[in-house]
Amino acid sequence: MSANIKIALAGNPNSGKTTLFNALTGARQHVGNYPGVTVEKKEGNYHLDNLTINIVDLPGTYSLTAYSEEEVVARDFLIFDKPQVIVNIIDAANLERNLYLTTQFFELGIPVVIALNMIDVARDRGIEIKADRLADFLGVPVVPIVARSGFGTQKLMEETVRVASKVKEWHPKAISYGEDIDSTLLDLAEKIEADNFLTADYPSRWIAIKYLENDQQILDKGREEDSSLSTCLEDKVADLTRHLSDTMETYPEAMVADHRYGYIKGILKKGVIAHKYDRDRLYTSDRIDKVLTNRFLGPLFMGLVLLGLYKFTFSYSELPVSWLESFFALLAQVADGLLPDGPLKSLIVSGIIGGVGGVLGFVPLIMFMFFGIAILEDSGYLARVAFMMDRIFRIFGLNGSSVMAYIVSGGIAGGCAVPGVMATRTLRSPKERMATLLTAPFMNCGAKLPVLALLIGAFFSENQAGYMFFFTLLAWSVALLVAKFLRLTILRGDATPFVLELPPYRFPTLKGLMIHTWEKTWQYIKKAGTVILGISIIIWAMMTYPGLPESEKAQFEAQRHAVEASVAEFEPLPGDTVPGAVEELQKRLVAIDREEAERGLRHSVAGRVGTALESVSQLAGFDWRTNIALIGGIAAKEVVLSTLGTAYSLGEVDPGESGSLAKTLAADPGWNPVKALSVLLFISYYAPCFVTVVCISKEAGSWKWGAFSMVFNTIFAFALAILVFQIGSLIS
Ligand code: GDP
Ligand code: MG
Repeated sequence: MSANIKIALAGNPNSGKTTLFNALTGARQHVGNYPGVTVEKKEGNYHLDNLTINIVDLPGTYSLTAYSEEEVVARDFLIFDKPQVIVNIIDAANLERNLYLTTQFFELGIPVVIALNMIDVARDRGIEIKADRLADFLGVPVVPIVARSGFGTQKLMEETVRVASKVKEWHPKAISYGEDIDSTLLDLAEKIEADNFLTADYPSRWIAIKYLENDQQILDKGREEDSSLSTCLEDKVADLTRHLSDTMETYPEAMVADHRYGYIKGILKKGVIAHKYDRDRLYTSDRIDKVLTNRFLGPLFMGLVLLGLYKFTFSYSELPVSWLESFFALLAQVADGLLPDGPLKSLIVSGIIGGVGGVLGFVPLIMFMFFGIAILEDSGYLARVAFMMDRIFRIFGLNGSSVMAYIVSGGIAGGCAVPGVMATRTLRSPKERMATLLTAPFMNCGAKLPVLALLIGAFFSENQAGYMFFFTLLAWSVALLVAKFLRLTILRGDATPFVLELPPYRFPTLKGLMIHTWEKTWQYIKKAGTVILGISIIIWAMMTYPGLPESEKAQFEAQRHAVEASVAEFEPLPGDTVPGAVEELQKRLVAIDREEAERGLRHSVAGRVGTALESVSQLAGFDWRTNIALIGGIAAKEVVLSTLGTAYSLGEVDPGESGSLAKTLAADPGWNPVKALSVLLFISYYAPCFVTVVCISKEAGSWKWGAFSMVFNTIFAFALAILVFQIGSLIS
């Protein structure tokens, strides 16, 4: 007969939880979701003698206060599913920070066994941890392990079983938070116990601490259970808050965190850690960081790195991009020659080659950019960027975790707002999180990148890298200012503390770089070949139908006949040069074709919408063709490019004549640098693409936020575009 033991595995992100879980459970795992939320739940079994140990892998968290969904899930599981033991996995190389979570298990009272992981890494860094001493001071078993090799895992399970059979009840442990807080906690706990307020589920002192920490879940539950007692507790906390602010210029949450760290430090000082090397020895990474994250040199270096990245990308990709352009121009010419006139030819030449070809033409640029970014990422430098930006982000009411969300969304160039928005899950405060996920789409994602490259190439070719750098800085500034605005208005609230870890620098491997570059480039190509192709075809149809009425077509035909007839009159004698008059007439023929194409485009569904919007959009300098492209861009930003490609190709007489869309735009009298700038700004900040809007709605828990981002961003971007266009037109 096999008995069962239920245990939970908990720890900070990156402490090796997944590695240990896999080592213990092998292939016998179930993956599902926690009821009601999208946080992943993994479960598996470990067999020891005749015991089956059921292990649940909790989400990785830094604390147990209800700052994030993961934290609520982890603690609800502990409280309502009551595992017999919690195996708390700790990264031995970051003992102090990892033990912070441990203190919170102590306060909850759940039996704990500590798995002291990565002792191999700690040893390499010259750190030796006396597990026995640590166990004595903490009062729980501490088992050194190396999750990656499996070392110590059996001993860990034996200890766990021993604790499970010995400890039957939870014993909350009190940590002292100093005079002021301790006395308030006692007072609150007394009232809580007297009323049996929530005590069926939680220890009384723990509830009191959560009131101090402003824990939303507990506050909500409390108000529901007994609103008058809850108000009384909240008032007492408010008194204490005022008192702390008056006497020590601090607040309860900060005091609580300080004392927890104090408790840990106190233990670690008692000979738990031995440094084999000289205490002041700096690891190579730390030494590099002394310079690269220096207050003054750091930002300077960061600017140079970005500028270098853009220079590298633009200059090395110029040639291959022009090859691809010629290739697609040639393809269009061949198709034009082979296919009979009609809708099919127009679809292939203007819709598909003009549309998708325009997007694919930028593959080399995308590849170079991703390669550069892969170097920054794989070497560990990107984490330093986040670290440095954290200081600035605080000023704007955001958190260091927001930096990563921005970078993922395209903060350096070429990301995607969808994973960016999802990356905000690591933010603890819901308001900081909302402010981040609403502003992350302002970054220059991989879809906007080719559009930026096109317009910068066409109108600001003298210093492309410089302009790219400028647009990057601008994107960050705009995002931060809007975030500040949101944090001062609809998303008001306090800042939360933030811990960022800096992984050691590594030399990127060529293979790793290639794989990362290729993965992202392939995604870009795949999207162009599927989503963008589909949208291009739809938009081509909207730009082609309904065709011109027969009567108008006949008119153009008649004009052409008239011109051709006059050419015939000039029948040159053999040996004569073509007279100037004939050349004139041939130009007229081209002009008639062009006018017919333009009339046709204007007559189409898309043309009418674009024209209807022109009276308003003109304020920002957008003509009707641009309007069509911008509307298409709401589906996906690359579509701006493909639609402009189709629009100008439909109006073109001889495809491939001018070579590239950039050249066509640069030569078009309707375009100039001021208009290009205004369009660029609008594209950078208007409504996020459709998928991002869906993702924002999902992450924010309401479609209203998705709708908000579309309306707010579009109004904001349009106002900015008008401003720049009007002022620009005045001074140029
Ligand atoms: P989680 O975020 O807590 O699930 O952490 P993971 O299990 O994903 O581990 C993070 C990283 O640490 C991975 O690269 C692991 O291979 C590595 N790792 C985990 N345990 C050990 C260990 O004991 N020694 C060493 N050297 N690396 C480890
Ligand atoms: Mg994991």
